[in-house]
Amino acid sequence: MQEKTVLITGAAGFLGSHLCDRFIAEGYAVIGMDNFITGDKKNIAHVLDHPQFQFIKHDVTEYIKIERDVDYILHFASPASPIDYLKIPIQTLKVGSLGTHNLLGLAKAKAARILIASTSEVYGDPLVHPQPETYYGNVNTIGPRGVYDEAKRFQESITMAYHRFHGLETRIVRIFNTYGPRMRLNDGRVIPAFMGQALRGEDLTIFGDGLQTRSFCYVDDQIEGIYRLLLSDYSYPVNIGNPHEITIKDFAEEIIKLTETTQKIIYKELPVDDPLQRQPDITLAKELLDWEPTVSRTQGMETTFNYFKSLNKNEWYKSEHKDFSSFNSK
Ligand code: NAD
Ligand code: UDP
Repeated sequence: MQEKTVLITGAAGFLGSHLCDRFIAEGYAVIGMDNFITGDKKNIAHVLDHPQFQFIKHDVTEYIKIERDVDYILHFASPASPIDYLKIPIQTLKVGSLGTHNLLGLAKAKAARILIASTSEVYGDPLVHPQPETYYGNVNTIGPRGVYDEAKRFQESITMAYHRFHGLETRIVRIFNTYGPRMRLNDGRVIPAFMGQALRGEDLTIFGDGLQTRSFCYVDDQIEGIYRLLLSDYSYPVNIGNPHEITIKDFAEEIIKLTETTQKIIYKELPVDDPLQRQPDITLAKELLDWEPTVSRTQGMETTFNYFKSLNKNEWYKSEHKDFSSFNSK
């Protein structure tokens, strides 16, 4: 049987690079696409010469040309950290809207199945807890986070329109906070932020009173859920995340213990529209995909910390946030 081809956008990012590994291991021909705006070439350095892998440097908001047949598309290109999307708000809106439109058009032209990476942020600051897929959300369209949340909500809408109007085979995964090796240590998300602070001997910065909650999913579990969803026949959104919820304050204390840092916790202002609680209802994923997380937070956090520790020390001290100035934000 001829191998199937999958196009993965955002391939040099955290989740995209793990997806490349998984699809190569499953025997697919993988085309990775990225413009490196928030990703890093080193995340895919180990597969660049792999016979099943081809890399195309491209901004998906521009017309996408692929000569080969494509069976599956996984659209993961998008800034994902609040710090990133607040710094590059227009690119964030464009990749969710124009980028998704281009990829849906490509999927239609190739008669490919497409899975798009949505997010728990479509629920905004949720008034229903935990969040099932049937909850419509509570998003501030004009707040600073709106650029990400609304881009993702538009992405879901246009994907369903292509499904209904063109009969395209579509899948939508609503990803809840996921962590693991290959996150950028300086991307501002809470796990790299706290672990980076512990490594550099800095105090851990909690935003707000630390009573806001999140539920953290280890990357291997997330990738398994996405893989199963792609191969399922379900076209509506599915939550993939770990329902084990924790306050950010308790989480900071866990990290202090794990990293054996002698630093303390300091408190900073809570960012605007920072959701107060978040926990996925994964009943649907369990029923539909026979999926649930298997990696405990203790295991996952240890592996992640060992990864950050193993990085060259220059990485620990790289300027706090990536410099996006070379990217055009028209
Ligand atoms: P990431 O920043 O590590 O990866 C995103 C990748 O997309 C980067 O390599 C970046 O360079 C690339 N990219 C961005 N804009 C692009 C463009 N216009 N053209 C080509 N490439 C572009 O983030 P991640 O955590 O790996 O997230 C991947 C996807 O998963 C995103 O769509 C994100 O919204 C979604 N998601 C992630 C999480 C999470 O917890 N990690 C949660 C919810 C949703
Ligand atoms: N957070 C924090 N200190 C930090 C970074 C983040 O207290 O140095 C908080 C942030 O305000 C949020 C939670 O940790 O309440 C998770 O933040 P993250 O950026 O990882 O993702 P979000 O779930 O908000 O998209």
